[in-house]
Amino acid sequence: MATIERLKKAPKQEIETNAPIYTKPLTDSQYDAGFDLLTQGNRTTYQDFIIPQLSRILVSLLKTRTHVSVLEIGPGPRSVLGLLPEQLRQKVRRYTALEPNEIFAERLEAQRTLPGLEHPHSIHRAAFGFENDTNASCGADAGWMAEQYDLVLFCHSMYGMKPQRKFIECALERLSLLPEGGMVVVFHRQGTFHVDGFVCNTTTSFPTGSVCVADDDTLLDCFATFISGVSAPEMTTGSARREVCRALGRRDEAHPEHLFFGAPEVMVTFTRHATTLPELTAQMPITIDTSKIKNRQARLHGPAAVVRPTEILHVQQCVLWALKHKTSLTVVGGGHSGQCLWLGVVAVDMSAFDQLQIVDAADQEGMFGAGALVVVGTGCKAGDVVEKTMAAGFAVPMGSRPSVGAGLWLQGGIGHLARLHGLTSDSIVGATVVSTLGEILCIGSVPEQSRPAGAVRPDNEEELLWALKGAGTNFGIVISLVFKAVAAPEYTIRNWLAPLRDSVEMRDKFSKLELIAKRLPRHCSVDAYMFWDTDKLRLGVSMCEVSTPHDRETLSPDYADLCEFMGQEETSKVVDGVELFDTEMYMSVMHGGHGGGKTSAFTRCVFLKHIGSPGIVDILVAAMATRPSPYCYFHLLHGGGAVGDVADMSTAFGCRDWEYACVITGVWPRDQDGTEIADAAVQWVYKVAMDLLPVSQGAYCADLGPDPRDADLAVEAFGPNKSRLVRLKHSSDPENVLAYACPMPRTIAAPKLIVLVTGESCAGKDCSAERWTHTFRTNDLSARVVSISERTKREYSEALGADLARLLKDRPYKEDHRRALTTYYQDQVKQTPRLPDEHFQQLVDDAVGVDVLLITGMRDDAPVASFSHLAPGSRVVEVRVLASREVRQGRGAIHVAYGSNGDADLERESAACPTFLFSNEVPGSEAANTFATTHLMPFFHEDLQSLTSMMRTVPNFPGAGIDFRDVLDIVQQPDGLRLCTSLLQTHFIGNMARADCIAACEVGGLVFASALAQQVNVPLKVLRKQGKRPPPTISVAKPTSHISSFADGAAEESRIEMDKFAITGRATSVVIVDDTLATGTTLCAVLNLLLEAGVDVEAMSVVVVAEFPAHRGRELLRREGFGGVRVQSLLVFGGA
Ligand SMILES: Cc1cc2nc3c(=O)[nH]c(=O)nc-3n(C[C@H](O)[C@H](O)[C@H](O)COP(=O)(O)OP(=O)(O)OC[C@H]3O[C@@H](n4cnc5c(N)ncnc54)[C@H](O)[C@@H]3O)c2cc1C
Repeated sequence: MATIERLKKAPKQEIETNAPIYTKPLTDSQYDAGFDLLTQGNRTTYQDFIIPQLSRILVSLLKTRTHVSVLEIGPGPRSVLGLLPEQLRQKVRRYTALEPNEIFAERLEAQRTLPGLEHPHSIHRAAFGFENDTNASCGADAGWMAEQYDLVLFCHSMYGMKPQRKFIECALERLSLLPEGGMVVVFHRQGTFHVDGFVCNTTTSFPTGSVCVADDDTLLDCFATFISGVSAPEMTTGSARREVCRALGRRDEAHPEHLFFGAPEVMVTFTRHATTLPELTAQMPITIDTSKIKNRQARLHGPAAVVRPTEILHVQQCVLWALKHKTSLTVVGGGHSGQCLWLGVVAVDMSAFDQLQIVDAADQEGMFGAGALVVVGTGCKAGDVVEKTMAAGFAVPMGSRPSVGAGLWLQGGIGHLARLHGLTSDSIVGATVVSTLGEILCIGSVPEQSRPAGAVRPDNEEELLWALKGAGTNFGIVISLVFKAVAAPEYTIRNWLAPLRDSVEMRDKFSKLELIAKRLPRHCSVDAYMFWDTDKLRLGVSMCEVSTPHDRETLSPDYADLCEFMGQEETSKVVDGVELFDTEMYMSVMHGGHGGGKTSAFTRCVFLKHIGSPGIVDILVAAMATRPSPYCYFHLLHGGGAVGDVADMSTAFGCRDWEYACVITGVWPRDQDGTEIADAAVQWVYKVAMDLLPVSQGAYCADLGPDPRDADLAVEAFGPNKSRLVRLKHSSDPENVLAYACPMPRTIAAPKLIVLVTGESCAGKDCSAERWTHTFRTNDLSARVVSISERTKREYSEALGADLARLLKDRPYKEDHRRALTTYYQDQVKQTPRLPDEHFQQLVDDAVGVDVLLITGMRDDAPVASFSHLAPGSRVVEVRVLASREVRQGRGAIHVAYGSNGDADLERESAACPTFLFSNEVPGSEAANTFATTHLMPFFHEDLQSLTSMMRTVPNFPGAGIDFRDVLDIVQQPDGLRLCTSLLQTHFIGNMARADCIAACEVGGLVFASALAQQVNVPLKVLRKQGKRPPPTISVAKPTSHISSFADGAAEESRIEMDKFAITGRATSVVIVDDTLATGTTLCAVLNLLLEAGVDVEAMSVVVVAEFPAHRGRELLRREGFGGVRVQSLLVFGGA
């Protein structure tokens, strides 16, 4: 399928050749008709890319401001903002558009899609341009220029704006200075946006965009004229234009009346930092010529610059510059991946770090045993490592091409030594890394002479070493790696080649190969190639035998089985590590040495177990039949052996259980780079990878990057290590400096609600939880019930030989083991005090993407206080299930009491107040459904979402690293206080109107409390800083709150007071209202003061607008004796 860009050039050439004197610019109405066709045929780009991306940008802008002002350049007949969700459109307070097309401008005038505008939108019939080259003033009507905007938007490419750089510069000048973070956002056709020297904030691509147009003479004419941007009379070029369209467009069986054109798109965002590149390039050399980057597609990506640090300080400067200017970096190792260069991003070329040292392992601390360590700079290539280590009699497992670099070593590394010695990353024992905060880190075993001055050992050293072994491109810029070496071997390579008639023969051959491969000893591997040559499908098989010169004779494998179905081998050769690079089958045999080497390629790789299974063979054969270019092929690399010896979770490389790595390679002639043939080969690779994924054991992460088509493969790349890696990425690269490496979700979608289901034995906890999940599911929410004691039961049964299935399901059996199980758990906790936290965290991590997680089997008295900080982005509530003794006995309860640390099933009194009580007396699901609908579903009400969107996040306020959520923003919004008051009342458990009084302290709490007191008609009791109330008063100490502690001159401790006789008589219900609950110090002081005033703990209940569980406020309340006070919060936030 040709792209729109290709189409643009073809009719234009046609017109300029055949009718140059007649060509004219488009009239407004021609432009209008063509634009309409383009947008009609391009709906998916709007739905799947522009609207979601723009919404994301607006949401991020709204974190630091309550509304936005927008300048849109060339919106066409309607603003794309009108397509955004209602709550975002509402936030646009000021809208200005520059639209030179008279027809469009008129339609824009009539548009009323932005309901939140303070003043009518202002539409200027002007182009965004320069009066002259030196004067960067823009547009004809200067009125709008005096204004500044939060967002300057170019939504439909920068049509006719050249040079693009100058227009971006001009747009940047229009960004408001305060609050910081305003953005210029450009949606543009991929491949035609060039802003050399400008640094983007983010670049996001949509490579699968396409446009369709009906195959009709008039419409094609109109479309081609619009795309080419010039018109000519019908009689001169009309039919030629249409023919060009028909020749280039793709027809689709499902839509035979239409022609399709590729329309890959990018979104590039810039902030005021876009022009800061000279600050960096003044400090170190830059690489002007990117032709040395191996991956030719990467070269098309147009980086902002490629810098070439020559010392570690330079690498640190790169990171610090990126942090300061809120941008990201890419790293160039061997330059073989598509993501080492990225549009508008600075690339750090590591080629200067090309030293290699071999040291004796015995001399190194922590490295017992003989052998050598090889310290390899990440500017080295595989060929350097093989050559230099071989000269010293050693080897490190590497990949099969000499020019591949550190990206391979850090993300796996499958080569001829893998079955014998494991992956390249398995040999890593240490590293020197510049962290994403700019520190030099020394990780694991790094020989003393290789440790740079100023290097520190990070607190999470073990975790980082674990991550470097398989996912190492995401956590810092690696300067050098330390590998343990093995003795240099020799390789005997035998090649076979045979034709393949059809899938039946292929199934047969692959099954035989699979059997042979399974039986081979570890020092042998057998790879397969499937390719098409001289009109025949062929199977190539390459056996590699690894041996040292003295054991070659004794180890030699029996390969008669292979000869039986492949015939006599074509070649057989004994080579060393360097010669091996040229002995590969695909280099020597396939396609006459790969079209003389003048080809480009694109690969993705999935892991397969049973290559002979019909499911897999049929996919491969079908894929070969649809290959878009004759050179496309599959390479199946033999795994197993030492690769599978390492447990999935011992290193970040989490896919270990496979026999073959299937590399799907799309190849095209080099002179077709950037054309539809290259695009078709790339699409073919993705299609085959996605077809194979369901029958695979995972995907290889080494080639994955920010292309959205990689996201599904990346999900399968790290097996059980995914959530651990995401957590590490979040903590190690908080600013996403390495944003374009193998995609790692920024956050795992934590459950929105976690329900801790507690209660006595046989009260019906599991059954109630299951019934509530039904209510959630009928409301389109995903829900899962898990038991926190299951892991202990599993470990107990493994350790003591109990029957796990019965332990989980058979009540009498479980009762028999209860005492022993409890003792076992208590012993475990004694050895690992953090065990309960780990168990909880594991359940939450495993519930990625689930909306509601219900956890049963809790053993803790106050589980919300104990665990909510571990899932700070989720709302955690406790529901205690109650049933009378008779009912529980009827359900099989056996009354046993072993003490307060026993199983949750034990009967116990708890001092902590659960969020809800659920009476489970009556059989049937009606009560459970009613309970879930009344008490749990309200947490998903859209009003809570609206309330959240009224609060800004102010970064680094009041201190560095604090993202301040301004709760008082709510009352400054139209309708904010009313909405919040009403939610506080309806979410309160109990009848607030029956309370004796409402109490609140200082500004934040008082604002919300006074509105609430008026609403429910209950008196308000005012608590203030000491000295603000006339006597007589009572007072208590109040330590400084979390936020106040950042204020200049904040006193370490102050006092709060209230009128001595504010509360008379015995209050039965006092509702304490506050704006936030973080560390809980203020709330504790308030409760203490009320206690002083004579209010019993049982009479107190608390409602707050926003809770920040990370600060463990509930835990403090519990420790201070207020565990029995019910605390509710309307909103829960993950950050500070
Ligand atoms: C011709 C060819 C042959 C291949 N053969 C094999 C093979 O035999 N076995 C195998 O397992 N794989 C093989 N691969 C896949 C290869 O492992 C990946 O393409 C790998 O990402 C290439 O790494 P690189 O350093 O050459 O590329 P680059 O594009 O330079 O880097 C790849 C990724 O690593 C990151 N990176 C590079 N250096 C650093 C650093 N110092 N610190 C942090 N991040 C860094 C980059 O930012 C990028 O995200 C092959 C690929 C090609 C193109």
